[in-house]
This record gives sequence, C-alpha cells and structure tokens, in this order.
Amino acid sequence: MVRVVKPEENYKLPLTKPVVGVAGKTGLWRTMRPVVDNEKCTRCYQCEIYCPVNVIRVEPELGVTIDYEYCKGCGICEDVCPRSAIVMVPEPGE
Ligand code: SF4
Ligand code: SF4
Repeated sequence: MVRVVKPEENYKLPLTKPVVGVAGKTGLWRTMRPVVDNEKCTRCYQCEIYCPVNVIRVEPELGVTIDYEYCKGCGICEDVCPRSAIVMVPEPGE
C-alpha cells in the first residue's frame, strides 16, 4: 500500500542535507539564481519537494526561502512551480 506523504512530513524523508564538499559549497557553482515572488506563491510545496539538494523551505506565513550557499542553480524549482513564482536570473558577472 502506498502511503501519501503530507508536506509537513517532508522533513522526515531520508533526504540528503547540504554539506560542504571537496569543491566547497555548491552555491559557488551557480551561474543562475532562482528568485521567488512570494505574492504569486500559493505554498504548494512543489519546489521544496523537487529541489535535488533540499535547500528550499516553504512556510505558510513567510513563503519560500532558499539557502543560496548551497543552491546550485539547476532551475528545477522554476520548472515545477505551477504559478511561475520562481524565475531564474543570471548571477552578477565578476
Ligand atoms: S535552482 Fe535547483 S538547487 Fe537551487 S533552489 Fe532551485 S531546485 Fe534547488
Ligand atoms: S512551487 Fe511555486 S507556488 Fe509552489 S511553493 Fe514553490 S514557489 Fe510557491
């Protein structure tokens, strides 16, 4: 039988946690940055569930926060957001 996991139980899943690796913090790799419009966000949790490095938190009151030290800019959160509330923008050049 398949058990449906509620968003508030998400933290109990065996997800990897971001840690400093041999190449440093994964945010250093990023060339594109996800920017969230919390006015458009409906707190559906899709971005939090699908982020492969588990750096997104969705809070009902606060909206979406992203740990940019570890976000590597893959753009999956932008792809899965049903409200187009996340947009990838270029990081500032050197
Ligand atoms: S760009 Fe990728 S790593 Fe960064 S928050 Fe979105 S899904 Fe996660
Ligand atoms: S996927 Fe989009 S609408 Fe859903 S919680 Fe994330 S930012 Fe908000």
